[in-house]
Amino acid sequence: MAKELLRVENLSAGVEGKEILKNINLTIKYGEVHVIMGPNGSGKSTLANVIMANPVYEVTSGKIFLDGEDITELSTDKRANKGLFMSFQSPEEVPGISVENFIRTAKINKEDKNIPIIKFKKQIEEEMQELKMDSSYAERYLNVGFSGGEKKKTEILQMLMLNPKLAMLDETDSGLDVDATRIVSQGIERFLSKDNAVFIITHHQELVRNVVPDFVHVIVDGRIVKEGDASLVGKIESEGFGWIRDEALND
Ligand code: ADP
Ligand code: MG
Repeated sequence: MAKELLRVENLSAGVEGKEILKNINLTIKYGEVHVIMGPNGSGKSTLANVIMANPVYEVTSGKIFLDGEDITELSTDKRANKGLFMSFQSPEEVPGISVENFIRTAKINKEDKNIPIIKFKKQIEEEMQELKMDSSYAERYLNVGFSGGEKKKTEILQMLMLNPKLAMLDETDSGLDVDATRIVSQGIERFLSKDNAVFIITHHQELVRNVVPDFVHVIVDGRIVKEGDASLVGKIESEGFGWIRDEALND
């Protein structure tokens, strides 16, 4: 049986006294694909941010475990070094730091050893080719002047290069055309192995076309109100959340 990678236990969190997440429980094992869906403003990004220890959010109760270790008090840096990764819904522009320097520095920090530049360049070039990104982007300032799609591909490039244990992807398909979505979906497929897991926030089944979700969680108003298998993604994409809200009210 696969080993547990991440466990979120009775987690509540918020910002400035406003409660956003309410008693979230979630267990992700090695090799698994988890999808989280929910209406806008339901707390999806907040959940990923809290797992990543974004200091904007305050954990009011509950715990987070990584490989069985309680990481609830650890900083973002330390969590990243232990193998957590998050791609942002709205990636920031970072003038002055090139894509390849940014990724190499992050990788050196994470792996705590030097990474020979030639080997690194070869690897990043290969990954960029797979993602159908022009290799000139490696030398451009991170996300500066990138289109929405290029920013999202750059997030996937970071994931593939950093090789985290758990990759959390926050609407990495939003704003992507069909072809780019497929390329990102193939990137997720290339990444996934028995030694990692992915946690995907999305509204669309196209993103998980290349990997079958093991579990789908639906969050409404900060609570997980429904869980199911891969078929939930398509059902929600076509029917919305109304029926899930109704079910939750009748419980
Ligand atoms: P989702 O990603 O599901 O669309 P979010 O997690 O971004 O939802 O937001 C959930 C709720 O928490 C929303 O009502 C949002 O306005 C609020 N929220 C999230 N982050 C902040 C913040 N930094 N400051 C104030 N409110 C926030
Ligand atoms: Mg969001």
